[in-house]
Amino acid sequence: MLWIASLWLLWASSILGAPVNKQRQKVLLISFDGFRWDYDRDVDTPNLDKMAKDGVKALYVTPPYLTITSPTHFTLLTGRYIENHGVIHNMWFNTTTTEKMPYYQTLFVNEWWDNGTLPIWITAQRQGLKAGSLHFPGTASSYQGQVAMVREWEPPLYNYKNETVWQENTDKVMGWFRDQDLDFISFYFGEPDGTGHRHGPDSPERREMVKQVDRTVGYIRQSAEQHGLSGHLNIIITADHGMSTVYRNGLVEEITLSKIPGFSFRDLSFHLVDYGPSGMLLPKPGMLEKVYNALKGAHPHLHVFKKEEMPERLHFAKNDRILPIILFADPGYVINGVLQFNKGEHGFDNEDMDMKPFFRAVGPAFHKNLEVGPFETVNIYPLMCHILGIQPEVNDGHLNATKHMLVTNSALVAVGFTVCKNQILFLGKYQHQHIVNVFSPYFLFCFR
Ligand SMILES: [Zn+2]
Repeated sequence: MLWIASLWLLWASSILGAPVNKQRQKVLLISFDGFRWDYDRDVDTPNLDKMAKDGVKALYVTPPYLTITSPTHFTLLTGRYIENHGVIHNMWFNTTTTEKMPYYQTLFVNEWWDNGTLPIWITAQRQGLKAGSLHFPGTASSYQGQVAMVREWEPPLYNYKNETVWQENTDKVMGWFRDQDLDFISFYFGEPDGTGHRHGPDSPERREMVKQVDRTVGYIRQSAEQHGLSGHLNIIITADHGMSTVYRNGLVEEITLSKIPGFSFRDLSFHLVDYGPSGMLLPKPGMLEKVYNALKGAHPHLHVFKKEEMPERLHFAKNDRILPIILFADPGYVINGVLQFNKGEHGFDNEDMDMKPFFRAVGPAFHKNLEVGPFETVNIYPLMCHILGIQPEVNDGHLNATKHMLVTNSALVAVGFTVCKNQILFLGKYQHQHIVNVFSPYFLFCFR
């Protein structure tokens, strides 16, 4: 019976000897801002369902804290927690001059983004690949003097909702892959975040916007096909955070800092509040304990931490840009300095299910029709580097968290081959008559 094992071995060698991927694989990373993990549950989403069938779906993914747009997108691009990559807020600020800049203007403040951590575009280009980005937060900045070789950012007062423009942008990105042979592109859509804020995550408007996202996912895959990319393009679709309904109008006792006894904005040198459920405060010299004691325990749904007390799991303390007092509210609540109006918000604890984004992936690197458990979004970066065949920078993710989504690659096959070969020889020596029975399922296990 040993000859059967030898034949299997020969067959295996011929399979394993062939290069697994003849053409270098490409990666398209897409973010639909604020697409919560369960948004496909109350809307028909045929294209997202088809993508899950043709590829991989995660139950949900966990973003880093603070769950707001620029910091969490920079985690997707770097694999680092926010305290480690330093883009700690959507807003650039200067505590000395008390200047602040809103989200859009902050996209152009180079030193806010370029503070030691390299996004994947730069790493890929330094290793001989070509990278591009369309509208992804961080695109407009340079990093150690380098930029993504093809890039485009949205103009001010941009309409993030126009479906026709979404399709035009899709064709543009596919054209960059085909005509300029880019290896990696990050591609950003500003919805359903805007609709979720304005109307709330349970609104009919949000459900309509999810249908628009779904149609666009269908368009993206069709466009990839038409551009001849399907054979070597991997598409990863995810988001930066979820969305949660805000309670007010007498439904709950709102958190309003200006009404808390013993607290005064006059005791602060600088603050960032009226920004959803999160806030940061810089007390004047000598006022830290007074401010802290006034706020701590002042409202049952307000969490107040000195920077050094922040729960380690949030990874939001060890950075000079983070202010000495950090505030966050429970789901349903926002922290009003004075007043806010959004019906939906994010920025809550990343353990809150409403903050979890969705995740889909399809392409030659991924298994088909596979649903996987949740993982943290820091792990998407090492996954992308692995598919692209580049050496990642230092990061907080682990390939182990996601590699079960991948079809066996050449490195894994080599290990599997060694193990299987030893097993074949072992079986061949000691259990001839059991070789076929035992070996067949094991072989399948090794090479699936
Ligand atoms: Zn966002």
